[in-house]
Order: sequence, then C-alpha cells, then structure tokens
Amino acid sequence: MNTQQIIETESKYTSGVYTKRPVAIVRGHGARLWDSDGKEYIDCVGGQGSANIGHTHPKVVSAIAEQAARLGVATEVFYNDQRAMLEEKLVQISPPLAKINRVFLANSGTEANEGALKFARYHTGRTEIVSMMRGFHGRSFGSLSATWEPKYREPFAPLVPGFKFIPYDNLEKAAQTIDENTAAVILEIVQGEGGVRPGSREFIQGIAKLAHERGAVVILDEIQTGFGRTGKMFAAEHYDIEPDLISVAKSIAGGLPMGAVLISERIRKLEPQIHGNTFGGNPLICASANATLEVIQEENLPQRAAELGEYALGRLKRIESPLIREARGLGLMLGVELKVKVTPILQALLERGVFALPAGPNVLRMLPPLVIEKSELDAAIEAVEQVLAEQERQVDK
Ligand code: PLP
Repeated sequence: MNTQQIIETESKYTSGVYTKRPVAIVRGHGARLWDSDGKEYIDCVGGQGSANIGHTHPKVVSAIAEQAARLGVATEVFYNDQRAMLEEKLVQISPPLAKINRVFLANSGTEANEGALKFARYHTGRTEIVSMMRGFHGRSFGSLSATWEPKYREPFAPLVPGFKFIPYDNLEKAAQTIDENTAAVILEIVQGEGGVRPGSREFIQGIAKLAHERGAVVILDEIQTGFGRTGKMFAAEHYDIEPDLISVAKSIAGGLPMGAVLISERIRKLEPQIHGNTFGGNPLICASANATLEVIQEENLPQRAAELGEYALGRLKRIESPLIREARGLGLMLGVELKVKVTPILQALLERGVFALPAGPNVLRMLPPLVIEKSELDAAIEAVEQVLAEQERQVDK
C-alpha cells in the first residue's frame, strides 16, 4: 500500500475517535520512526509513553519470536513459566516502601486502574474514590469516572457514582474530602495528560498520609511514569511514599499491550472469581515484558532518563520565546506550557521530522524512548526552538 492508499483506507474505515496526523508510520528502530515514503522522524511520542526501550529492540524481538513459536496462549487458570518470572520480577523492582507482594495482570492502563479501583472497594468495603482535577486514568466507565476532563466524561454520563474531585496540590481540600467513606485516593505523581505537572513533595506525601490515617487505600497511577520514565524505576521513589496499589502499563511489555496492578501486602488477600480476564498474563506478552524489564535494568535506563531529562529540561528552560509560559518535567517526561495552542506547533515539528505530543490544548509534551541518543534529543529541542521562533514571527505579523 502506498501512503495515499493507507491514509484513504484508514480514513474510510476507522472508528473516527482519533484525531490523526497526516503520516503513515511503518517502521521503527530505537528513537527513530519511518513513514511510508521513507522519511525519518525523531520520536518524542514514544507510543504515548509505551516505547521506553525504543522501537524493535533486538532482545525483545527475539523474545517475542521465541515465545510465539513455543506458546502464545494460556490463561491464568494454568501456571506458566513466563508469567511466574514476570510476577516475581515486578515484585522485586517495585518501590520498596510500597511492600508489593502480589500482581494482577491485565491488558492496558485503563484495565489496570479498573482493577485497582475494584480492589480498593473490596479491601475497604467502602465506596467513594477521591480523584484529582486534571487527572487522567482511562476511558472505561470506572477509570473514566476517576478522569477529570469534562469533554471525555460528559458524552457518557451517568458515570459510576461515588467519585469526588479535588484540586491537585491542595492538601486542605484533601483533608476536607477524605473521610470514613473513602475507599481510595487515586493520583498520578506527575500528571501526564493533564499537562505534565509534577506534584509537590508536600502534597504527595501529605495526601498519602491522610488517606492512610483515615483508612483509605492509596492508588498510585504509574502508567505513564513507570519503568524509568521519570529517572527512577517508579516515580514513587522520588517521593518516599507508601502506595497500596500501583497501576502500571504502557512500557511494561516493550510496546505490546499489558497492564498490571502491583498489590501491597497491606491489601487483604483477593478471593478467586472476584476479578479476571482472558488475556492478562498471556505468555507471549509476559515473555516480551520479561525481556523489556531486563533491557531497562541492563541498560540502566532510569539513570539515563534522569541524566538526559535534566539536560533536556535545562535546554527547554533556556529557550527564549515569548510563546513559552513554563517548561517542566521529571526525567524524560517533559512539558512546555505555551501561551498559544499546541496543535500548529506539533504539525510544524512533524514537518521538521520530530514527533511530539499534546498534553491539553497548550502544553507540548515529549516522551522520547529512554534510549534516545543525546544528539537526537538535541535535534528535537532545536526543532522546538526553531518552530517557536517561526510561530512567533507569524504571531507578530
Ligand atoms: N493512566 C495514565 C496516567 C495514562 O497516561 C493513561 C494513558 O495515557 C492511562 C491511565 C490509560 O492507559 P491505556 O491507554 O493503556 O488504557
């Protein structure tokens, strides 16, 4: 299929729920992607944060091929070697203070949060969930009920009852809202979709403490921040908190679909039949996840994200543009809040061979693979600089 055929066919048959960019991606390696005309791009979208180890990592490619030839399907009613290894590994690498000792496997971030919300209600026998304004947790009814953005929620009302929103970084409101009916507080340490906003240490520690004092569970959504993205294996490690349930997904399986709930020893033992699915813990995806976690550790990717992230944020902060309100981030989770709409900037970047993401209407977000070369990161930042200068000239006209 040539480019025109791909775009025309997808446009004709796609559901219509995505705003698409006018490019067909057909190949990737490391932090590079190629379109159907052979044009090369630096990838700062990273599969919406699911390509921490880069594209087509040879270790993961061979792990998938080997497992596909051995066993593709076996549900969790049977034991499996790949799943056993993965569950043990996830417990080993989890943030020590969380005291994780069990894992529930699912197929996406949304499903991980869905599981975490159910486990929190099950554990506490309470119904209410306290969630953050600007928080994003997915689009199924449960996870959407915890998601703040009105335009995602409103077309599907009524959502699940019992969800309350408080301003992120406002401990006073948290203290007024968390009570004896609260099953869980759910939050991201760096709000991703909500604009790349790292929470303050005081707020994150404070709300976790409040929740625990009042008998509620802390659900930490590390779907975007996990697996090295913020410069530590999990963002929780920056803040020394004790989450009871951690939801993860995105980069866990090197780009194949997987989500998981990491469960603390503080959570009551889950009983058979209360939750489940068909594909969670699928041996093929588990093999991919095992290889991915090995790569993240062997290549020391959290450390790499910390170093490159600090460097990149420094460079972004030094860009002198009247269009920038603030550059912020943690590790290689980078955001540039603009005083203008981000969409034309993303399009101009694409034309210069750089893919980046929005995070709301006016935040430019970059989630490059953690294996990105410094020279590639430099080129991407230079493109941002040039595009902003160009836009500035257009605004002046
Ligand atoms: N939670 C967070 C913090 C996310 O960033 C996302 C996806 O962007 C999700 C949940 C939903 O994950 P998925 O798209 O895998 O269902």
